[in-house]
Amino acid sequence: MSALGTENNPLRVAIVGSGPAGFYAAEHLMKPEETAVEVDMFDRLPTPFGLVRAGVAPDHPKIKSVIRVYEKTAAREGFRFFGGVEVGRDLSVDELRERYHCVVFAYGTATDNKLGIPGEDLPGSRSATEFVNWYNAHPDFADREFDLSHERVVVIGNGNVAADVARMLALPRSELEETDTADHAIEALAASGVREIVVLGRRGPAQAAFTNPEVRELGEMTQADIVIDPEEMKLDGASRAWVDSEDCGPTNRRNVEIFTEFSQRDPEGKLQRIVLRFCCSPVSIEGDGRVERVVVGRNELAGDGDRIKASDTGDRETIETGLVLRSIGYRGEPLDGVPFDESRGLIPNEAGRVGKGEHVRGLYAVGWIKRGPSGVIGTNKKDAAETVARVFEDLEAGTVPEPELASDPASIEALLGERVPDHVTYEGWKAIDAAEVAAGEPLGRPRVKLVSTEEMVAAAKAGAGV
Ligand code: NAP
Repeated sequence: MSALGTENNPLRVAIVGSGPAGFYAAEHLMKPEETAVEVDMFDRLPTPFGLVRAGVAPDHPKIKSVIRVYEKTAAREGFRFFGGVEVGRDLSVDELRERYHCVVFAYGTATDNKLGIPGEDLPGSRSATEFVNWYNAHPDFADREFDLSHERVVVIGNGNVAADVARMLALPRSELEETDTADHAIEALAASGVREIVVLGRRGPAQAAFTNPEVRELGEMTQADIVIDPEEMKLDGASRAWVDSEDCGPTNRRNVEIFTEFSQRDPEGKLQRIVLRFCCSPVSIEGDGRVERVVVGRNELAGDGDRIKASDTGDRETIETGLVLRSIGYRGEPLDGVPFDESRGLIPNEAGRVGKGEHVRGLYAVGWIKRGPSGVIGTNKKDAAETVARVFEDLEAGTVPEPELASDPASIEALLGERVPDHVTYEGWKAIDAAEVAAGEPLGRPRVKLVSTEEMVAAAKAGAGV
């Protein structure tokens, strides 16, 4: 038989997850002309692109234009997409290992972190993940309802997801209608009675995890004033020293400058207010059968450098609210047949090779399930390059395992034909895409997203003339 990685014996790789990390891994795998690689990409949703479709805020269309890069990868000979196929439910990892030389896990971190405080599970206390998926038309979340009749929403966390959520709560109908926000969310958000969005950061303005453009945008909302109490902008000694030192990155330093400018503004009396609070942690979420208030503890900061930590001073304050959105980061879920680091919520790996010390041959990880939920979309390109370099090293070293069953492209199709006959191919996705874009055209919108899996499968079949 020809050497593995040559035209007659291509390296066959399964990628689990079709978000940025999965697509960058596919690109790095398929680009080198000297090695023949075939990629089959699986996603539990009928649609590809992961968080670019279901995470990126609808009012950030430029960020979504990265899809054009992924489309080029998808157009490469030897690339196939199998949407609507959940590895761990429809196919096991072992079944993939029987058919592919390598399996690359790129399935992200879908579960939200917990605060671990009383009342966290009261009705009205929701994860930002749920809200983001809802306004982005994720089929599993389309039927969720958010009670936006309350005057005040409390968003917990100081990362870019919290910023996205705060902005989405403050966009007027006219601006929502220029986006691909799910129709159900446009209706609910346009009818919202929310007048104040309070964003709680447990540490100070110098430690906020927002990036500069996301902070700036909060001060440029047409319908909402940005409010920061100048008292909360007074940096403690350790934070001041850090911001003034060379150790502090430009993002944190610039954030402090922007927040300071915000704190000096006089509100213009816009319909809504976005209030940024610092050094505040929710201590309990309370109410009679549903959320009515958040009890917040005042924090003080101690430590040095970027390791400055918050601790409770014992001071308390109560904020009346009917809706709490918890935006404090994510963790991954384990997959049967793959090692898992329960404490970190990710797949243990060394530079992308699954396992610590001893690697599981043929298994690799990339993206958030490899390094945790950090960085922006582009961060995954470098991350994928690192993982793919390990794949090629292993190919070179002859340590890539030979699959038990013939590594034949038809084998997985036969299996899926039995298990998931309605799976969506890349051609099927192109038909869904065309239907969504066509529905948006007369409305001047980039697309009107289909929200149910059934509709998507029907659009995919109609496009294929089935
Ligand atoms: P993140 O950036 O890690 O922010 C999480 C926030 O939650 C931090 O402010 C953190 O505070 C806070 N937090 C954690 N545990 C907490 C607790 N128990 N109580 C109170 N606060 C707590 O996470 P993210 O916002 O989910 O974003 C994930 C990644 O996606 C980030 O890399 C982000 O930049 C990226 N993203 C980018 C964009 C964009 O580019 N526009 C949009 C969305 C997301 P501490 O700092 O004190 O831990």
